[in-house]
Amino acid sequence: MKLKVNDVHVHLGSSSIINQKLLVKDIKNFRKKYNIDNIMLFTLDRDIDKNNKKVIELAKKYEYVHGLYWIQKTRIKEDVKILEQELGNGLVGVKFHGVFEKEKVSAKIYEPIMKVLDKKKAILLIHCGRFKDGSPLSNSSFVHGLTVAKKFQNIKVILAHMGGNDTSVVRKALESAKNIPNAYFDTSGISTPFRVELGIKKVGPKRIIFGSDFPWCSFRGMFYGVEDALISKHAKSLILNKNFLRLISKN
Ligand SMILES: [Zn+2]
Repeated sequence: MKLKVNDVHVHLGSSSIINQKLLVKDIKNFRKKYNIDNIMLFTLDRDIDKNNKKVIELAKKYEYVHGLYWIQKTRIKEDVKILEQELGNGLVGVKFHGVFEKEKVSAKIYEPIMKVLDKKKAILLIHCGRFKDGSPLSNSSFVHGLTVAKKFQNIKVILAHMGGNDTSVVRKALESAKNIPNAYFDTSGISTPFRVELGIKKVGPKRIIFGSDFPWCSFRGMFYGVEDALISKHAKSLILNKNFLRLISKN
């Protein structure tokens, strides 16, 4: 039987920007249609509080749903309480989006959250953009994610979009992360399989993890971005399946 795919980057709900959505009732069909086993699920930019609650519920109910909680600087105290209670209980970590937050992930205001994540050895998935070519002046620069990864070494930091939506930014991010073993890269949003090949060369196949960014991106588009890479079968099975499982394992 064909190996099922594990997807580290799936959004629940609808966006204020694109005309695509994934509702609770669509999840079953989404998994079946694309031969997916486990998903890491978190809200899109709309109805964040409502969807955060739904994600927690779904993660408790379904073994294959691993929840990421979208944190917001306007409610750090409440979020810390929720995370203290829910991490390890279906919820596996948090999602951070510097563009919507208008703040960088390494900012002091998020430290109470990072401390909980570090204590619980949880996941921090960070949106990384291409704005200003990955310069620290951008709130969505991979640089800030790596700062957090260095400071909180028990947090499994996933740099979404392989560190930024541009090959030159991806290259910089991979090079900067070489000696930061708790920094991982999700393959969502890549426009060429070359970035996956580059990733393997720079940090090895164990730190690259498949993400579709569905429904923001086309699932198949993202899947073939990995499938078309000139890499070994073994590396592909790590990226598309096994690395996810290692990331969520309790050890
Ligand atoms: Zn996304």
